[in-house]
Amino acid sequence: RAKGLGGRRVEVFAAHMHADAVRRLEIAADLQRALLEKQFVIEYQPIVDLATNRVTAVEALVRWCRGGTFVPPEQFLDAAEETGLIVPLSEWILTEACGEVATWRASSWDIGLALNLSKRQITAPGFVETISAALADSGLPPSALTLEVIEEMLVEDAGDTVEKLSELRELGVRLAIDDFGTGYASLAFLRQLPVDMIKIDPSFVSGLGLDETLTLLTRTIVRLGHDLGLTVVAEGIERPEQLELLREMGCSRGQGYLVARPMGAQGVDSLMRTNLTSLQNTA
Ligand code: C2E
Ligand code: MG
Ligand code: MG
Ligand code: MG
Repeated sequence: RAKGLGGRRVEVFAAHMHADAVRRLEIAADLQRALLEKQFVIEYQPIVDLATNRVTAVEALVRWCRGGTFVPPEQFLDAAEETGLIVPLSEWILTEACGEVATWRASSWDIGLALNLSKRQITAPGFVETISAALADSGLPPSALTLEVIEEMLVEDAGDTVEKLSELRELGVRLAIDDFGTGYASLAFLRQLPVDMIKIDPSFVSGLGLDETLTLLTRTIVRLGHDLGLTVVAEGIERPEQLELLREMGCSRGQGYLVARPMGAQGVDSLMRTNLTSLQNTA
């Protein structure tokens, strides 16, 4: 009897695996087509200097415009990573975003570009060359580009990740740790890495003023970050109280729906033209 049950279980498991494999193939085909048909768009979310309200950079965030609806990155990035399609997709994002930010800079707007890196993108052959070529082709100075990685990528150091990022940093490119505080990297470990910036994860920022421990942790990260000579960015600012506390803590930069939502390139265009009055009003 036990044997029968076990057999059935195996069958169910196999059917499930089959469905999974089919689904993955479907997603792979969909993504491939999306790439060919240029169904991806980039939104840009402003990052502001909390002392001056000046927009210092925009973070490029990819969306899949699938049959008229915007699919958020969380719903396709894993599949893109698994199938390897993340490599050509990331290359497209890199070229597109560098070009757009270079255009804004040409209107004498001193802004930078923040770009999220994927694991597979870094380990792919020619990663360093691809980034330097995009900078050269767009005319974007290396110092205007910040590459965002998560702690895990530096700790695991797959395919000489740290070495490659160090190489880029020697060219002048900046390096940021995204979602800081959620991984395993200690600040002591960070000191040995070529890092310029940490982005405090929204899970800390969300508790500002509401949760004593999270408020204290945020304050500590800001202070230690600054003591280590790093730029500290707070992510996920949604309430005025969070902004106030972060300013009081001396946090360098902020990003979040309260400051500005991710927007299309045209939105950034008009943000530039309206002289950022909407952002100044949040002061
Ligand atoms: P991330 O790099 O930490 O990006 C910040 C995410 O928080 C974005 O979600 C942004 O829209 C969202 N966000 C910003 N302000 C607020 C806020 O005030 N409240 C809340 N609740 N959310 C806020 P998004 O665009 O859905 O991206 C999710 C993640 O997908 C990113 O997290 C990043 O890890 C990844 N990602 C996005 N674009 C790319 C890309 O071009 N390449 C790679 N490799 N990963 C990307
Ligand atoms: Mg990011
Ligand atoms: Mg983040
Ligand atoms: Mg993230």
